[in-house]
Amino acid sequence: MTPIHDHIDRHADDRPNAPAMRDSTGIVLDWSAYRAATKEARDYLADAGVGPGDRVMIVAENCAALAALIFGVSRLGAVAVPVNARMKGAELAKIAGHCEPKATIYTVAASPDARIHAEAADTTVRDTACGEVMLATAPDARAEPASDVAVLLYTTGTTGDPKGVMLTHGNLNYAGKTSAELRGMGPDERLYGALPLTHVFGLASMLTAGAVAGAEVQLEARFAPDRLLSALNDGATILPAVPQMHAVLMAHTADLGMEKLQDAQLKYVSSGAAPLDPAWKRKAEVFYGLPLQNGYGMTETTAGICATRNRIGDPDTSVGPPLPGCEVRILSPNDDGVGEIATRGPHVMAGYYRAPDLTAAVLDADGWLSTGDLGKIDDQGRLHVVGRTKELIIRSGFNVYPPEVEAALNDHPDVVQSAVIGRARDGNEDVLAFVQPRRADLDPAQLAAFVSGSLSAYKRPSAIFVVDALPAAPTGKILKHRLLDTFAAQIAAQDAKG
Ligand code: ATP
Ligand code: MG
Repeated sequence: MTPIHDHIDRHADDRPNAPAMRDSTGIVLDWSAYRAATKEARDYLADAGVGPGDRVMIVAENCAALAALIFGVSRLGAVAVPVNARMKGAELAKIAGHCEPKATIYTVAASPDARIHAEAADTTVRDTACGEVMLATAPDARAEPASDVAVLLYTTGTTGDPKGVMLTHGNLNYAGKTSAELRGMGPDERLYGALPLTHVFGLASMLTAGAVAGAEVQLEARFAPDRLLSALNDGATILPAVPQMHAVLMAHTADLGMEKLQDAQLKYVSSGAAPLDPAWKRKAEVFYGLPLQNGYGMTETTAGICATRNRIGDPDTSVGPPLPGCEVRILSPNDDGVGEIATRGPHVMAGYYRAPDLTAAVLDADGWLSTGDLGKIDDQGRLHVVGRTKELIIRSGFNVYPPEVEAALNDHPDVVQSAVIGRARDGNEDVLAFVQPRRADLDPAQLAAFVSGSLSAYKRPSAIFVVDALPAAPTGKILKHRLLDTFAAQIAAQDAKG
């Protein structure tokens, strides 16, 4: 087994003074300094009593300290548990209760939220080459034997409680290598990283891809469209993002009256982690002057399963063919070829942490993982993701796939983004739509008339709610299971109107 920190050592030996890492607090590291930072993290964790098999929770937003800690934990044979500092205290406590970390580190220099959490805990302060961190220890945390697990990542929680996914060094090496190869990413690239490293797409497709390729990674603590735009004007060559980031950037540049990106060095831009709206794809390709590649994956598969290799303007709504080494098949397809997507290969997790029953429910003895997503494979071998098994709406016997309805809503020029869910009612299911508008006075009735032009009657929303903001995870992914609670008052008012 090659541990993930070997990549850092390899580049530090070969190209010690080449750029490796920079962050939005102003830390700039070459490979030699990056290696030193990972060793510094290893040493202070060892002083805190961390050893092989122990969990180390890192409460952070993107910064060099978080990167150094992930590789420093690897040097100890321990397990890193990166969690987003923007989560609520109760959410962090739940994860800590589940994984029982021997140490918890708060990267306070880059994250005011991490500082707030740290101040509520019993911590000591430490100045490091990557800025100040705060440290809490739990000497009595349950010990576990050393394993090949490098990272424990909790899922987004789109559909329920987050689950702890065990990713091995082998999983991360594989994912880093395939995403670097897919992008033609060599040591001279600069990858702009606003996807949180606490989510699998950031961790695997930015941090480990950069480490494998020896490319520079520029970390942004928090996504903001103006910061992204200046990074693009300042030499970033690779941009992985979630669809919502592209949508927000497009809205921002439209406000600036900017139709196209000029004089940038961008070479590869991708979207992943959530359905890519075809209209957003078209707009983004015009703006970037590059194809917007769509990648499909999940925490349980170390990010990637499939990715497109399109040319600009290809009207492709698939997520492309499987990545090299990954197998994909459709379980019990219906007459349209649609069924649950299953996948097998070096990207599949070791299992859910401390949850053998949950693991057995999704991972079979032959290594096939049931994804919980619905899709079909076309005659060119490309996978089309049409929705999630849990989110499929069955209305009067017809299947309604929320992403199709969302795409129709998002096509309206005054819609920023939308989320569609089903609600059981009178033995049937209603289609409810929640819309974040570009103008506060967007009229739901006008929007309903607009989508009736492109959606058959059974797919049209029973009600459209125009709301200020949609409940979202730190990646920007919409947390659909919170919609009914968050907007209970509006829904009740609408029901009363009939
Ligand atoms: P939880 O499992 O806790 O409910 P989650 O599934 O949203 O949360 P992630 O692992 O972050 O947690 O997300 C993976 C899911 O995101 C996939 O199973 C799929 O439903 C969706 N997804 C990812 N990429 C794409 C894509 N390119 N197109 C459509 N859906 C995608
Ligand atoms: Mg999931």
